[in-house]
Amino acid sequence: MTHRSDSSVTIGPGAFRSSKLLDSVLFHESVHVEQNETWYYFGSTNLREVQAYDATRAFSISIGASPEEVSLLYSARADYYNQLSAAERWRVRQ
Ligand SMILES: [Zn+2]
Repeated sequence: MTHRSDSSVTIGPGAFRSSKLLDSVLFHESVHVEQNETWYYFGSTNLREVQAYDATRAFSISIGASPEEVSLLYSARADYYNQLSAAERWRVRQ
């Protein structure tokens, strides 16, 4: 998925390979809506992405996504995690 500054999102064809993948991608986007509505998720864009990926991972497991699907969904997290400041890394799991 691709986020844009105007808040539009493009969901690529890979998300349509299974209902659990698509549900998980939509869940990820819903986490961003929640982040925008609450004070709890203050922090950089990278931190918000890491938090969204962590929440999405838990959601994907809870709906019975396969280990391969969970791994695929989680794969982009590292790119964001690697850009976190030291202080932000304390706020998420490694
Ligand atoms: Zn995101």
